Amino acid sequence: MDHNVYEQLADVLDTRGVGFPRTTSGVEFKILKMLFTAKEADLYMKLSLEPEPLQVIAQKLGQDADALAAALNTMAEKGLIIQVPHDGMVLYMAIPFAIGILEGNAIRVKEDPVFANLVTQYLDEGLGAVAAKPPLALRPVPVNRAITVSWPIATHDDLREIVRTKQFIAVTDCLCRTRKVHAEDKSCGKPTEVCITFDLHAHMAISRAQGRQITAQEAIDILDKAEAAGLVPMAFNSINPSGVCNCCGDCCGVLQYVAKNSKPAKIVLSNYFAVVDKAQCVGCEVCLDRCQMTAIAMNADNIAQVNLDRCIGCGLCITSCDAGALSLALKPETERQVPVEAAP
Ligand code: SF4
Ligand code: SF4
Ligand code: SF4
Repeated sequence: MDHNVYEQLADVLDTRGVGFPRTTSGVEFKILKMLFTAKEADLYMKLSLEPEPLQVIAQKLGQDADALAAALNTMAEKGLIIQVPHDGMVLYMAIPFAIGILEGNAIRVKEDPVFANLVTQYLDEGLGAVAAKPPLALRPVPVNRAITVSWPIATHDDLREIVRTKQFIAVTDCLCRTRKVHAEDKSCGKPTEVCITFDLHAHMAISRAQGRQITAQEAIDILDKAEAAGLVPMAFNSINPSGVCNCCGDCCGVLQYVAKNSKPAKIVLSNYFAVVDKAQCVGCEVCLDRCQMTAIAMNADNIAQVNLDRCIGCGLCITSCDAGALSLALKPETERQVPVEAAP
């Protein structure tokens, strides 16, 4: 009977966020059983993805409010749901496995090698592949310095503007880089404290002691540091993103799967592409190393050339070209896309 509730939970999780695919090894059930008791699994399935007051949930479920509050608070402490402060009371809402429960358990990835190894196995066997299927949970947002401000930049394409509009900001360690160190004993050497979350996600990170509150200026400084280190800024894919990851091809499951696609530009939502001014290119090849999508190659004349099927418009190459030969161009209006209202 217990396993049955986890089967049902897996089905529900599969309809939320990036999904929760089944694997032949069944590793996903080992993860669920480490995270949820059978009672918590049952309760999770009855919760909405919209924040609801305790009394409403208690009435809906026909349960005693005090006992229910205790169960919900425990689940929030375990990073399985979110508590939302609202008008002097606390609302409760379910969150997807990714982006959500997995990130809420980043600290466990650091402290529990068994859990870290299971997450690695699950990323390899199923979760990584679905996370890289369109619509992606993340989308590249070019660093502002890469954009020539000769045309208007939509707010959702302006990382600094996104940060400035947020009321509550937190920074946490990058889950993927942390997992790599703890599960595989490997480090890409890139900065780790670079995952920036906003509002609800920021509250969750801080209540789980996984992050610290920062100001908008500190967030912008972190974005600059990440850019200098060659990390790709990837916002959660919605018009009002609840977070920005700074990813690298060594550690990030999503970026790795995007890079494996023969045409990464076709599966990410990006409104930009890189262009080379042939007259300025001195053939130094710095941009080749910088590009995580291997979108740049040298032509027979030793001039950099961008493969538009592979360029995701992240802008990293632009800020590394001392010769000023690279710039970002805006795609034609017919090819531009606006992110969805809410994250998938
Ligand atoms: S998605 Fe990227 S930045 Fe976010 S946790 Fe993974 S590697 Fe780190
Ligand atoms: S970094 Fe600039 S100058 Fe060097 S190869 Fe690339 S485009 Fe050319
Ligand atoms: S060429 Fe590579 S680094 Fe430059 S914008 Fe495109 S994907 Fe980013």
